[in-house]
Amino acid sequence: TSVLSDRINAMQESQTIAMAKMARELAAQGVDVISLSFGEPDFQTPQYIKEAAKKALDDGFTFYTPVPGYLDLRQAICDKLQRDNNLAYKPENIVVSTGAKQSLANTVMSLVNEGDEVIVFAPYWVSYEEMVKLAGGKAVTLMGSLENDFKVTAQELEAAITPRTKLIMYSSPCNPTGSVFTREELAAIAEVVARYPQVHVLADEIYEYINFVGEHVSMAQFEEIKDRVITVNGFSKGYAMTGWRVGYLAASKEIACACEKMQSQITSGTCSIAQRAALAALQGGRTSADEMVEAYRRRRDLVLELVKDIPGFRTPTPSGAFYIFPDVTGYFGKTTPEGKTINSAYDLALYMLHDGHVAAVDGGAFGAPNCLRFSTAAADEKLREAFIRIKHSLAKLA
Ligand code: PLP
Repeated sequence: TSVLSDRINAMQESQTIAMAKMARELAAQGVDVISLSFGEPDFQTPQYIKEAAKKALDDGFTFYTPVPGYLDLRQAICDKLQRDNNLAYKPENIVVSTGAKQSLANTVMSLVNEGDEVIVFAPYWVSYEEMVKLAGGKAVTLMGSLENDFKVTAQELEAAITPRTKLIMYSSPCNPTGSVFTREELAAIAEVVARYPQVHVLADEIYEYINFVGEHVSMAQFEEIKDRVITVNGFSKGYAMTGWRVGYLAASKEIACACEKMQSQITSGTCSIAQRAALAALQGGRTSADEMVEAYRRRRDLVLELVKDIPGFRTPTPSGAFYIFPDVTGYFGKTTPEGKTINSAYDLALYMLHDGHVAAVDGGAFGAPNCLRFSTAAADEKLREAFIRIKHSLAKLA
């Protein structure tokens, strides 16, 4: 028997973290490991945002903050949602949290009852399924097809809805696939959701600014379901602020209040200094993000070029975020020089780490065990070297 709760014992450890740990251990032994397993920008936070944080300290922002966030920050978030997303919200609809991750968790904990079904579009971001389990819900994963850039269609969604369906979760641009839903695709999904009044949508838009195709569409733009959509966004990706821990959600007043209540009992308001920095980030517009996006686009193009040289990697062209997510089933059944058989993407990831010293993440962590995720948020020379090594290692498989 365990002293730990059934709740924590039922929770899986993050597989992305497990792979990063193995890579670190190899590196500690002096091996030159290239890690493409991280889900974070390799850029520093822009200087004007850092200055705002220093000023916040000097100005005395050291006290508890309002649970849903400073009013001026929430107003700036409303202005951003109006400007970028054509969404009208008031500060009472906004809850600022310790990262988008907490915004997602607040929503799931506030909406999902024991036994409720949550449809999770797969490949999905690692934490969605565990959050649903923690809330006592049942995650129903719905896999998008490779042919449709891994995007779930409205028809596939409708077939998965049952009377117990409470919530749908997806990210667009998507981590891990980089897919971006078009307006038409989201409109069709919204039309389905409109017919099932008990169904809500959690739209994770954290990669909004890292988009190579142009238009970002928010699910909440579809007026007939707006009150049932919770939009989550944050500062980690677009403003390269992963360590600051600021995210937010926009929702109906009822749902926003529930999330505020949840947060008030667990963490209270987000760090005062980080909130002042986030306000400055928004006031600076999206110029700094646009500069970073140009680098991400260049690296995506570079990696797609390098991958063309690697037989058996089938990858759609990512429209956003900073990953590529090839299907690698072509390597299943092959044998390593040591005589081990590759039976899964996990086996392949381990082989690449030990033979080529390149760390990727097994797609199983995202509900897609036939794929590997490589981060493209790394310097060009590193990406070049990594894919040369991968090519060499894979060529040794028989
Ligand atoms: N949602 C997705 C799809 C992500 O990839 C991440 C971070 O990796 C998050 C949410 C969490 O972001 P934050 O750092 O704001 O908690």
